[in-house]
Amino acid sequence: MKTNERVTDKILISACFLGERVRYNGEAKPLVNVLIKEWQKQGRLIPVCPEVTSGLPVPRPPAEIDPVTKKVITIESVDVTEQFEKGAEIALRLCQQHNIRLALLKESSPSCGSNSVYDGTFSQQKIIGEGVTTKLLRANGIKVFSEASIAQLAAQIGCTNWQLKFFDKC
Ligand code: SF4
Repeated sequence: MKTNERVTDKILISACFLGERVRYNGEAKPLVNVLIKEWQKQGRLIPVCPEVTSGLPVPRPPAEIDPVTKKVITIESVDVTEQFEKGAEIALRLCQQHNIRLALLKESSPSCGSNSVYDGTFSQQKIIGEGVTTKLLRANGIKVFSEASIAQLAAQIGCTNWQLKFFDKC
């Protein structure tokens, strides 16, 4: 890949990381990191909240994936799988529109989790798994990273010296 192609690589990002108050509880989950600031300046980041974009409200009842049925069920026992799948489709379309091959999504969310999700019992227990959006993006060749793997994401676009504040390849 040529260097000038890297500079224009866009990254899909969970909207709550950018301070948007879209979480189920009406809060944001700002990700404070020099790379985020740099990428924002460059216009690299394409935010999405799959749940809100699917039409779910803010705030909304928390939902978790049933590990057996794979359905997404709210704490009030409402099946919201369809809405979560719609949000995932919208996120995928966004990636296709912007030629995005990389995503930075919030860990453990039933939409955005990439290594873990809550176990479906609403008891704060996590299990290995991925959210509905992450699963669809990965099935379509998009690499998904979490807040814990932002360094690996940076390396994907050739950005290796950012901890020294060298952003030339970021
Ligand atoms: S669905 Fe993703 S972007 Fe939306 S609030 Fe949850 S973690 Fe953040």
